[in-house]
Amino acid sequence: MAISSPSHQTQIHIVFVPMLAPGHFIPMIDMAKLLAIHGGIKATIIITPTIAARYNQSSEPSSNSIPISFVQIPFPSDEFGLPEGCETVDTLPSGQWANFGSALKIWQTSVENFIEKMEPLPTCMISDRFIPQVAGIAERLGLKRIIFDGMGCLNLLITHQIEVSKIYETVEESEHFVVPGLPHEIELTKKQIPSFICPVLPSMIEYRDNIKEADRHAYGILINSFEELEPDYIVELQKIYKNRAWCIGPLSLRNKEKKEKAIRGNKAAIDEHECLKWLDNQDSDSVIYACLGSLSKIAPPQLAELGLALEKSNRPFIWVLRATETKLEIEKWMLENKYEERIHGRGLLIWGWAPQVLILSHKAVGGFITHCGWNSTIEGISSGVPMITWPLFGEQFFNEKLVSQILGVGVSVGAKTSIGITSEQTEVEVLVKNEEILEAIEKVMNGDEGGTERRKRAKEMSEAAKKATEEGGSSYHNITMFLQDMVIS
Ligand code: UDP
Repeated sequence: MAISSPSHQTQIHIVFVPMLAPGHFIPMIDMAKLLAIHGGIKATIIITPTIAARYNQSSEPSSNSIPISFVQIPFPSDEFGLPEGCETVDTLPSGQWANFGSALKIWQTSVENFIEKMEPLPTCMISDRFIPQVAGIAERLGLKRIIFDGMGCLNLLITHQIEVSKIYETVEESEHFVVPGLPHEIELTKKQIPSFICPVLPSMIEYRDNIKEADRHAYGILINSFEELEPDYIVELQKIYKNRAWCIGPLSLRNKEKKEKAIRGNKAAIDEHECLKWLDNQDSDSVIYACLGSLSKIAPPQLAELGLALEKSNRPFIWVLRATETKLEIEKWMLENKYEERIHGRGLLIWGWAPQVLILSHKAVGGFITHCGWNSTIEGISSGVPMITWPLFGEQFFNEKLVSQILGVGVSVGAKTSIGITSEQTEVEVLVKNEEILEAIEKVMNGDEGGTERRKRAKEMSEAAKKATEEGGSSYHNITMFLQDMVIS
């Protein structure tokens, strides 16, 4: 189905500008491909050279047939003292947030200059909420701007309700409060709210205000979720976004071929065939997959607790470890404790990027230890894998509530406090003990009534996710409605 603009002569052309973090550019690139295939639109996605390299390295099989153009705008890493090629948040060394923020501003100016010179101008712009500066060009050029922030409906609604009620001004740090104005009772503490919602630092307050200002001028919002997953929350969001909120996910389901799943976002640190062979040798629903996202900085002693829990589970597992500054320390712990010998034949360690969607969609995977980043959450849901939830920062505590409390497809390890995304301290205390992680693993993996029911619900949800993206499904329909809206001036 191709949708043209009213003259029926010009094709819709959408320019996409992602935030430079995997959790943001991965779903946006999926989205660009999805809209290009579904609606026959022309898609231009603006990225940096290293992101382009990650995707080119991949030599994706079907990419040539998809009409999307990658435009590379150089990122001024050098100018701000960042290491060469440091153009995304996942490659950022500790202590460099301010420099990255300054470089990101310059990058956005270059993006604005590029868009201004586009001829003819695009039909609309989809840009990430967290790069509000670039939104200005849409306004100056009179383009419709659509927000994308890579997160789900419940997060959007909780954020809105907390901001409107300002409840954080009336509660103590560890005091439990019920989020006002939600269809379900959800309890949180201030320590579980992203600092972005109730900022203290002047630079953070300015950033938050810029985002709010840009949001005020946006035409609507696209959401990587599906209506059947969050029916009550999307109804509430439509009131806030004046019926211009479109759930078009799960976006990861756009990747159908094994090769596409394997190279999504970065070059995997393990050969996909090796990984699949390992999984093929395991029983259905037997493997625990542990991956805490692309950004987390977890203290080595805390990681050791996870390692011990995986070992004590006596089940096969895949453990993804980020190759960050603390890698040497964790390796030392493993060596001293002969960890790899102890888990030999049962545990597969991936140091670096894992082909997550490929792994999750394998029938051997029976449980997902996740930090509840929204992409991981919806990828877990799409794959029908029950989750062991361990939120770390940002809106992840909200997503945990959805998974464990509302949908009933997860069990919490009991994390109580956000460790903060900008945290540079690696020697933080152990916040979650191996016994607690193990308890959650057992609840998810064992075949008792609770575990069986959870697994059944997870499989049903996965079916609903697939249905939503197929012709006649809610997300499929919403894409059509969204594209039609874009051509009405
Ligand atoms: N991801 C991956 N391999 C990894 C780590 C992450 O493919 O080793 C992908 C994952 O599938 C998801 C994204 O990176 O699409 C991470 O986004 P999410 O919102 O889950 O968490 P974040 O990394 O932003 O905290």
